[in-house]
Amino acid sequence: MKVVVLGAGLAGVPTAYFLSKAGHEVVVVDRQPGAALETSFANGSLLCLGHAYPWASPAAPGVLVKSLTRRDQALRLSPRFDPRMWGWLLKFLRECTSSRADRNAASRLRLATYSQEVMKTVVADTGIKFFHTDKGLLYLYRTEHAMTEGVRQMRVLERNGLEIKVINAKEAAAIEPALVPVRDKLLGGVYVPADGTGDARLFTEELARVSAERGVKFMYNTTIERIVCENGRASAVETSAGKIQADAVVVAMGSYSAPLLRRHGVHIDLFPVKGYSLTVPITKAEVAPTIGGLDEDNLLAFSVLGNRLRLTATAEFTGFDLRHKPSDFRYMSQAAQDLFPTIGDYSKAEMWCGLRPATPDGNAVLGKTTTPNLYVCTGGGSMGWTMSCGMGKIVSDVVCQQEVDIDIAEMLVPA
Ligand SMILES: Cc1cc2nc3c(=O)[nH]c(=O)nc-3n(C[C@H](O)[C@H](O)[C@H](O)COP(=O)(O)OP(=O)(O)OC[C@H]3O[C@@H](n4cnc5c(N)ncnc54)[C@H](O)[C@@H]3O)c2cc1C
Repeated sequence: MKVVVLGAGLAGVPTAYFLSKAGHEVVVVDRQPGAALETSFANGSLLCLGHAYPWASPAAPGVLVKSLTRRDQALRLSPRFDPRMWGWLLKFLRECTSSRADRNAASRLRLATYSQEVMKTVVADTGIKFFHTDKGLLYLYRTEHAMTEGVRQMRVLERNGLEIKVINAKEAAAIEPALVPVRDKLLGGVYVPADGTGDARLFTEELARVSAERGVKFMYNTTIERIVCENGRASAVETSAGKIQADAVVVAMGSYSAPLLRRHGVHIDLFPVKGYSLTVPITKAEVAPTIGGLDEDNLLAFSVLGNRLRLTATAEFTGFDLRHKPSDFRYMSQAAQDLFPTIGDYSKAEMWCGLRPATPDGNAVLGKTTTPNLYVCTGGGSMGWTMSCGMGKIVSDVVCQQEVDIDIAEMLVPA
């Protein structure tokens, strides 16, 4: 069977890899000149099971309201005319009850945990290197308020099987010596041993390279225009490089999946949630953290990728707008310099932003649509790196009509 995968990011490339392993002819189409050049380019690098509690939580409505009046914080919502954004936010608010948040946390953790197992098989099979660490992550809290809520959320994950260790500031500094000088600024944290870090872009590029060596065809610099449907089935994809015939099509175009699918009568609740990253050259390796983590009061993620410190923050609702300016990074740079003041030259940091393909409930969107041979692999949102290998394996299994390994009831494409 010839399967055309639309998108060469963290969702599309693992899907293509598994489909090719299953014996199919696979073509991946992307408008960029290489893999992982949009949202998968410079993300937080965290493989973070401990982040599985969804954004849509009982605390979220208060944070959203505050964000309407303040620009200097990690969540930014500008009141503007955008019916899709408001529709998405209404659905998001519906998911903010504690029972829905707990259920979504369980399904997100299930996929994230499965994905780490699948990633191990990918690494064993391909030998790819991507600055992978598996020594856990630290979720740090500066205030009583943040720690109480953070630990409450972590306990939900613990009840669903995640090992966590609630620690004080001294214990956090013992796990991560880079925190010793700032220990007094912290109240405590949660250590999640199963977590890790890795360069998502390098992983995707390397997996694309190995997949190409094994026969997957990558068509870069090729814009996808529409899916051609005949007799109720997807028969081809129209692109800037002409028509590509297909026996099956997988849409893995990140936030752009929703507008494309909508034209074919498939409605998924996906909205681009913009996030920012800074990549700081490390000049003092001796003060760099050895494991990654999050400053939860500032919603700032940090990780070390070789000789670079990667920092990410901010959830902003501005549609598909990918512009950024230095002031967008001021808040996160200040928060990072408060934790790691001497690690490197912050003035030389590379600035980047990307659009998380986010669903209101935080669950990925995977598998079949009402068109029998048209499939979806998207909705990784803020955990699309952590979930990517699992998402790819599941969608490949669905296309191959194999039984999937985990329950994906919460992740099905709406009929
Ligand atoms: C600031 C930030 C920090 C993050 N941190 C983390 C983290 O620490 N841990 C974690 O697990 N996740 C994290 N994420 C989330 C993760 O990066 C995303 O969920 C993931 O990259 C999404 O991958 P994707 O393949 O769905 O989308 P993309 O990477 O955007 O891939 C979609 C592809 O489709 C292509 N495409 C789109 N439209 C067309 C078209 N018309 N024609 C041709 N090609 C097209 C694009 O070129 C692109 O390559 C973060 C995200 C952001 C923004």
